Amino acid sequence: MIVRTQEQKETLLEAGKRLGIVLETLAQAVSPGLSVDVLDTMAEKLIREKGDIPSFLNYTPEDFPRPYPASLCVSVNDEIVHGIPNENPRVLKDGDIVSLDLGLTHKKVIVDSALTVSVGKTDKKSYALMDATASALEAGIATLKPGNHLGDIGRAIQEVIEHAGFAVVKELGGHGVGDEVHEEPYISNYGKPGDGQELVEGMVLALEPISSAGKASVVLGNDDYTYRTRDGSRSAHFEHTILIEKDAPLVVTRRPSEI
Ligand code: MG
Ligand code: MG
Repeated sequence: MIVRTQEQKETLLEAGKRLGIVLETLAQAVSPGLSVDVLDTMAEKLIREKGDIPSFLNYTPEDFPRPYPASLCVSVNDEIVHGIPNENPRVLKDGDIVSLDLGLTHKKVIVDSALTVSVGKTDKKSYALMDATASALEAGIATLKPGNHLGDIGRAIQEVIEHAGFAVVKELGGHGVGDEVHEEPYISNYGKPGDGQELVEGMVLALEPISSAGKASVVLGNDDYTYRTRDGSRSAHFEHTILIEKDAPLVVTRRPSEI
């Protein structure tokens, strides 16, 4: 989506605010003993009660064999992204880490955001992995200026994750968003400064660094959706939807606790 009018911008901001509130509510509900399908039911209810639509439910990404069957993606420990909460209702355990990824459609505008949280307290390495991935997202966001390039985003994300001693999952990345769940351009979480498409004012992008505490190699599950690390290492994932403006990037999906 390219934002060209004040009305479009206001709708985007409202969509982002709503998603931030829902995601924060879900993150606060994460606790040992909780079955992840409860989070999916909560997500759908919280979105629909405000008159909005869960964007992922029944959405079929390009080259996927079937529609996604839930509102929320819940990916636990070595699951990287696209864990299906309702078909595979795992019960969260103390010390797990869990990525919650959610899309919301408000007045036809789609926003997308994710975070990773621990279930109770976790280990030092898992905290470091989550911290590095969250910092990588902020580093990526800082590059979002007209005249910069996709490669600048990828390099900034890669540097933070690798400097912390972790690996970038290279098969997955960010994307344009707003009119569709996934739009051009695809945004790699690694790259070279100056490479790729130039960023312009009004672009709406979802940046989503995805990391592994071990090797970066991935496997896709039999459910056609769930990606895991091949070596069983834990993975973290953070995502925001951002509007590129002339002076500074505007993160539209900030959660209340981040503001
Ligand atoms: Mg997402
Ligand atoms: Mg996304």
